[in-house]
Amino acid sequence: MKVGEEVAIEMVDVHKWYGDFHVLKDINLKVMKGERIVICGPSGSGKSTLIRCINRLEEHQQGTITVDGIELTNDLKKIDEIRREVGMVFQHFNLFPHLTILENCTLAPIWVRKMPKKEAEEVAMEYLTRVKIPEQANKYPGQLSGGQQQRVAIARSLCMSPRIMLFDEPTSALDPEMIKEVLDVMVDLAQSGMTMLCVTHEMGFARQVANRVIFMDAGQIIEQNEPTAFFENPQHDRTKLFLSQIL
Ligand code: ADP
Ligand code: MG
Repeated sequence: MKVGEEVAIEMVDVHKWYGDFHVLKDINLKVMKGERIVICGPSGSGKSTLIRCINRLEEHQQGTITVDGIELTNDLKKIDEIRREVGMVFQHFNLFPHLTILENCTLAPIWVRKMPKKEAEEVAMEYLTRVKIPEQANKYPGQLSGGQQQRVAIARSLCMSPRIMLFDEPTSALDPEMIKEVLDVMVDLAQSGMTMLCVTHEMGFARQVANRVIFMDAGQIIEQNEPTAFFENPQHDRTKLFLSQIL
């Protein structure tokens, strides 16, 4: 689990507003290749907005965001390029209900990457095997459990060979008994060297794989540290309060 010396993501003095509401305030964040970062913080603190700005699902109004050397501007070609590098997994899986698991996984490789169908299916089966559900390939999302659907969502992202993976509370909509099977897949991905930015309150996961834990509150990064120091010795009162509520 080596961290590289190249920068994967850099946010410099980033601000964002929703109308009059100042949702991200002066965010500075540098993520190295191979780094695994966990972002936590109270509901409404801007965690989703922050990671959604990285693949331009949300637009920032001030400051710069650079992903793999490409600066995010209104240039649609560059936005496309970045989206090809960055996979994203959401809380609510967002699978296409009318497509089979295999079709969910091959859709983007075939239409966006122009991969031949047979090759796309082979790649998809490899990733479905890696997330331990190859036998579900011909079923529809509604026939799978939440944990299985989330593993499909991860496999689907990986089929596009992303260099960076963003996770937005991937286990928070799951029943407790399914959380581990999804976290196991994420740990496996972390161990393979993927650059990962994960919004999650799964502190066991943070301790196991994160290089750094970031705490956000009210649109700001309040504190960040490597996991042991973060959990054992939080500096800020707001961090202490938050940890006392979730641990
Ligand atoms: P978190 O993921 O930490 O819960 P979000 O980034 O989702 O926080 O939201 C931060 C704040 O921005 C919240 O107060 C939320 O209500 C507000 N917000 C989120 N999305 C929008 C939007 N599209 N328009 C207006 N306000 C929004
Ligand atoms: Mg959120």
